[in-house]
Amino acid sequence: MKKSIKQGYSSKKGYQVAILLGFIFTTTVFAADPVQHDIRQGEGVTRTTTLSEYFPALTGTPGDTTVYIMDSGIEGGTLLLLGGTHANEIAGVIAAVIAVEKGIVSSGRIIVIPHTNNSASRHNQGTFNPGSPQWIELKNSAGETRRFLYGDRYTQPEDQAVDPEIFIHNPSGMEFKGAEARNLNRNHPGKADGTLTQQISYALFQLVEKEEVDVLIDMHEASVTSRLAFTLVAHPRALEIAAMAKMDLEMNDINMTLEVSSDKFHGLSHREFGDHSNVLAFLTETPNPGMEKSIEHPDVINDPDNPLNMRLQVVLKSILAILDNYKIMNDQKKAITIGFPFPLSDLKNTNPGEFLR
Ligand SMILES: [Zn+2]
Repeated sequence: MKKSIKQGYSSKKGYQVAILLGFIFTTTVFAADPVQHDIRQGEGVTRTTTLSEYFPALTGTPGDTTVYIMDSGIEGGTLLLLGGTHANEIAGVIAAVIAVEKGIVSSGRIIVIPHTNNSASRHNQGTFNPGSPQWIELKNSAGETRRFLYGDRYTQPEDQAVDPEIFIHNPSGMEFKGAEARNLNRNHPGKADGTLTQQISYALFQLVEKEEVDVLIDMHEASVTSRLAFTLVAHPRALEIAAMAKMDLEMNDINMTLEVSSDKFHGLSHREFGDHSNVLAFLTETPNPGMEKSIEHPDVINDPDNPLNMRLQVVLKSILAILDNYKIMNDQKKAITIGFPFPLSDLKNTNPGEFLR
């Protein structure tokens, strides 16, 4: 009798330990609240919401992120502008922040997500270069220092179950190394009951459908030595507009390589949004010294060959060139127009912080 009581006690204790461990495990997987960032919305922003509005399962997870809606109130199309799909690719993040803080939309709507994979923005795991920073600092025209997280390519490991040995893309069945399970740009079109990374992608697809997005631009960076360094990628349905945008950019001394989405490589935004929604999908790549392993202490802002202000000019001018040609190829009723209270060429010689609030 005594023995059985003891056994009962220990199995009860074992049960409590199991619950406790389960609790720790569960809270570890979704430990962090969504990271908040210093983004000061300008007069162009008409509404802010969160990605979880489009997919409530993201509420309270580190995958939720702020969505800025800039509605001109004038008939037109809708652009979804994504920064921080890869949170270390800061030209896209800061270009999105400049759009939110200083952009004026005069026709149609622009929806901006500066930190598309907000889990990845929390910490730089040094995926490409252990010498790349955790923060960047930019001084605005009032002399105030603005700080922005320099995140990582991948969803933070603690925000998602342990990587599989081989990550199998849904729905193509294409196989990648396990860590790619945390690469948002290998997880599109996502999965409602999938991992955090798949859910972020799924939420973006819900947003695209609900907001009837016409054009999507996903802003990336590549290593300074990568063949992708100055590239404009387009889904086949968007190729003609991309080709015209490339010619316009050449007249501004910006030489972008034009590439069409491969139909053999899955999970990328331009391929999957183009295939699984009605959007015309584009992706831009600029060269970031922080992604080049051979540079010991990369200066991701003032690198003499590839400074941030040059990369921002390339990204912002690419957006305008795509929108100009979208307007030419479509009914004027679908026009999407954004402008800035400064010439974009001013970015060439100036500290990029001066283009922030
Ligand atoms: Zn990228």
